[in-house]
Amino acid sequence: QIQLENISKNFGENYVLNNINLEIKDGEFLVLVGPSGCGKSTLLRILAGLESSSSGSILLNNQNINDWDPRKRNFSLIFQNYALFPHMTVENNITFGMKMRGEHKSTFNEKVAHVAQLLQLQPLLKRKPKELSGGQRQRVAMARAIVRDPALFLMDEPLSNLDAKLRVEVREGIMKLHQTLKTSTVYVTHDQIEAMTMADRIVVLDKGRLQQIGTPEQLYLCPENLFVATFIGTPA
Ligand code: ATP
Ligand code: MG
Repeated sequence: QIQLENISKNFGENYVLNNINLEIKDGEFLVLVGPSGCGKSTLLRILAGLESSSSGSILLNNQNINDWDPRKRNFSLIFQNYALFPHMTVENNITFGMKMRGEHKSTFNEKVAHVAQLLQLQPLLKRKPKELSGGQRQRVAMARAIVRDPALFLMDEPLSNLDAKLRVEVREGIMKLHQTLKTSTVYVTHDQIEAMTMADRIVVLDKGRLQQIGTPEQLYLCPENLFVATFIGTPA
């Protein structure tokens, strides 16, 4: 369980996040939505430890992790153009991080086989990234991020560079992974349909402020303000 307490961030005069209080429950798929520039990526980067907040705390199981570097946090972050190692096969791309951490081959072979099956990557394991489609590459990136058993999986618009057909394909892969592994996830999108269909709960952010958090049904049926209503597309 992860708790954000009064997280604020400013870049000079630009106040990007204002007093964000948010709980990420174990195993939930939390979708973060909001207009361009509202602070979504900044919030993910702060969670991942790539950026520090100006004030506030991040708690992991009640322990303050503000000072933990990204490696110690063990949260996986992937984004739209997430780079694979071009000279390595798909399989070696997926296992690279596990090897670096000194995991035993016998344990990781099993994990890789499982994740490859969930994401339908088995036929591609011996290929190089340049021999893959965009959707296939993004599924490899997912596999590489998830085999590390992250405490939190952070995805920043991972489908935004894909055409509509590939988007559906990768989205199904993400949902299958989540249903099986139940890794706590924060998923950023500005696609309302994605938010409504994928989320356990949706967080609506505008101008660095949390507008509302709730299940898709709650936000749709009981938007707390006009911004949420408009954003979620509730009929008047
Ligand atoms: P998008 O949907 O377009 O990806 P976003 O919600 O992810 O937008 P952020 O990338 O978090 O938005 O940016 C929020 C604000 O913070 C923007 O005004 C941006 O210009 C500013 N910002 C982000 N990173 C930095 C930085 N390193 N230095 C200065 N300003 C920054
Ligand atoms: Mg962004």
